[in-house]
Amino acid sequence: MLDDTPMMKQYNEIKADYEDSILFYRMGDFYEMFYEDAKTASRELGLTLTKRNKKTDVPLAGIPYHSAASYIAKLVGKGYKVAICEQVEDPKTAKGIVKRDVIRVITPGTIIDTEYLDEKVNNYLLGVLADDKKIALAYVDITTGEFRASEITGGNLDYKLLGEINKISPKEIMTDDKGYEFLSKELESHRMKDGISLHRGTVVRNSEKYLAEYFGVQSLESFGIGDKELVIKTAGMVLKYVVELQKGKELPVTKIVYSSSKEVMELNLTTQKNLDIISNWRGESTNGTLLWVLDYCKSSMGSRLLKKIIKNPLLNIEKIKKRQEHIEFFINEVLLREEIREKLKDIYDIERIIGKLILETINGRDLTALKQSIRNSLELYKMLQGHELFKIDAEKLIEVYNMIEKIIVEDPPFSIREGGIIKDGYNEELDELRNISNHGKDYILKIESDEREKTGIKGLKVKYNKVFGYFIEITKANLENVPDYYIRKQTLTNAERFIVPELKTYEEKVLNAKTRIETLEYYLFKELTEEIKKYRETLQDLGYKIAYLDVVSNLAHVAIKNGYVKPEITDDSSLEILGGRHPIIEKLIPAGEFVKNKVILDDRKNFIILTGPNMSGKSTYMKQTALIIIMAHMGSYVPADYAKIGLVDRIFTRIGASDDLMTGQSTFMLEMSEVANILNSATEKSFIILDEIGRGTSTFDGISIATAISEYIHDNIRAKTIFATHYHELTQLGDKLDRAENYRIEVEENDKDIKFLREIVKGGADKSYGIEVARLAGLPKEILVNSKKILKVLEERKNIIEKKFGGEQMMLFAPSTQEEVKKEEIPKEEEKNISKEEELTLRLLRELDINTLTPMDAMIKLNELKKLLN
Ligand code: ADP
Ligand code: MG
Repeated sequence: MLDDTPMMKQYNEIKADYEDSILFYRMGDFYEMFYEDAKTASRELGLTLTKRNKKTDVPLAGIPYHSAASYIAKLVGKGYKVAICEQVEDPKTAKGIVKRDVIRVITPGTIIDTEYLDEKVNNYLLGVLADDKKIALAYVDITTGEFRASEITGGNLDYKLLGEINKISPKEIMTDDKGYEFLSKELESHRMKDGISLHRGTVVRNSEKYLAEYFGVQSLESFGIGDKELVIKTAGMVLKYVVELQKGKELPVTKIVYSSSKEVMELNLTTQKNLDIISNWRGESTNGTLLWVLDYCKSSMGSRLLKKIIKNPLLNIEKIKKRQEHIEFFINEVLLREEIREKLKDIYDIERIIGKLILETINGRDLTALKQSIRNSLELYKMLQGHELFKIDAEKLIEVYNMIEKIIVEDPPFSIREGGIIKDGYNEELDELRNISNHGKDYILKIESDEREKTGIKGLKVKYNKVFGYFIEITKANLENVPDYYIRKQTLTNAERFIVPELKTYEEKVLNAKTRIETLEYYLFKELTEEIKKYRETLQDLGYKIAYLDVVSNLAHVAIKNGYVKPEITDDSSLEILGGRHPIIEKLIPAGEFVKNKVILDDRKNFIILTGPNMSGKSTYMKQTALIIIMAHMGSYVPADYAKIGLVDRIFTRIGASDDLMTGQSTFMLEMSEVANILNSATEKSFIILDEIGRGTSTFDGISIATAISEYIHDNIRAKTIFATHYHELTQLGDKLDRAENYRIEVEENDKDIKFLREIVKGGADKSYGIEVARLAGLPKEILVNSKKILKVLEERKNIIEKKFGGEQMMLFAPSTQEEVKKEEIPKEEEKNISKEEELTLRLLRELDINTLTPMDAMIKLNELKKLLN
């Protein structure tokens, strides 16, 4: 049966505007949910589902308002939107049904209750729009007011977008229809969908005007985006959405920070994941990542900034050197560093406190936290004696400090509505009210004794009842002494009751004191926060400076702790790392056991072919080189004895035949599409690591494709490259290509065992040691003996084939060009013992002109060939 009471009518009307949200409908001390919302909430939050009343079947679930935040956090965490509907007039004075309105809508990317957010992680809402040449991004964290925009251009846009999304790690993404379709598929297939709520947004009609008005600027050129239409469109979409969710309340967002993607090193999704820069998957702990090694920050603001710095290595040599300089300052100033870090520990999350201030969710505790933080910041300022690292507006900060100090008690309560926040002596009226409320009884007694004295009536009594409030009672015997100004109120058998004006004024005050105190304190608190809002720029700036100070002193601390050195940064193409270590692995194995290694690459030699058995340390070596390059571009010190690093524009990785079965793509296909991306995007200034390319297919396939790719990179791209393989056959490339060199990981072998020395030395490995490694892994002896036999047979066969080709080496590695490969005729007899399909495959392979083949074609061709063989 329909419930058409006025209240449910009001509910239905409001709900109609918030179809896609769970509506929290305020009733007294509860938020109630009805209908489907009630069912969802009871399912997701484990609430009891009841009915609104016996007459109707309207489902109902409710939660007490004071614990709403945790329920909201849970629902939003699961991707729901929650609309908070409050009573917007005082129920006591309301006529008819209390007016209600939605005051705020909360989505995963716009949570404002920071209590339920990870303090070390920004809570971003990201907007994405694309045209056929570029993709614009705009993202905002409304808890801090940070609002950034950027643009992706050139190369494989889609692939780059995923890398950017991984860097930003938003909780919510809004985009248009096309973007929605693309992202729902891609996020799923890259297992990034969990924890990101994706939806379609509405593009604002005149974005430029909207933004200019919001920020109060003449032109968006002041943010450097004046001519960037797509960025403007995206930023407008995001901002308008957030503003609307806040129902017109002010936001801490004061500017758009535009950064061109050219200012920072692009790290695509695979590279970010392969190098374990930050945790790979959302919600996963940071253990075993570069962040885990580097983050000993003392404040959450520092940790958040460090994360950004790690994900966005700089490309500008001056900026890198500036950071180095700041870190170096703290390397040298040992005592000061410790003192400063100690102080930083006592600084609260100023950025988020300012966010709360603007969003009006701030309470007394936040203000005392702000006060303490300002005091400690001022002490930092003194310690640093005006160093450029920490230039803050001390005068203004002192003003804020003094205001809070003067007004807010030392240990305020959580609520701002129940009084107890404002100090005594700040407001006269408040002092008087408190006096009344605390000493009401005493005061009444005082009136009693005063009146007794004035009238001379000893038996005069001040009494109280609900009907008359306070009154004076005088027995019949004493009536003749009652003064004229006593107002008679009631006559009893033995006594009469009177009131006097003083008593009545006082009574009003006592009775109302409590509520009046609450209202007045709330008012004074608001007055103070309004005043502090005027200082928001100074405070936001302080937040950033603290974060930066924390990051650089932290990086100095970590550098000393871990024995890092300052890399020399150059703008040529040198790469020289002596005594390099893997920053993460060295922490995961017993201290001192990591074997240091060197890397030297330059214009003359820029391609390393690294051979060595499985598990010998190839991947570690390559990743450590990439990580050292990244750290150097962050401005950080690096795990090495010496490092000279030329600027690198991008780092590419293709590592292992990782198990990507879940993404639905075949491993080999995935491997090849990543290689295709590298070949299309890398430049001479890039650094590439290729780990076991071609492993995902048969040996010959693998070796052929690995060879062709290496030659292509060497001849056409000329990027600095390390190519690791356990196919020792590939060492022949080292001799063939000018700028390539063979290195191998030393292995000590006796007749029973092999031992990994982990040392990189010049020269290629002459065998793959697969069986030896298998032995180390504990494979049964029988299998090992058998494998040795099989290997012997295979090697003999190979020798026969090689002889038939007339050379010492296998054809693939003869120092010949592709033409020669084509010309070479395979003797007829050889084809006898291969099948028709194999023959066809070989012919197709021979006829392929790899020079004109795009990577994508290569993949398709390879797939065809494989199909043929199967
Ligand atoms: P590969 O890629 O050659 O198969 P990895 O690089 O994965 O080998 O290394 C295997 C393991 O060997 C690592 O997880 C690490 O524990 C250890 N290791 C690698 N390099 C070193 C080193 N330089 N010093 C000490 N241990 C190392
Ligand atoms: Mg490996």
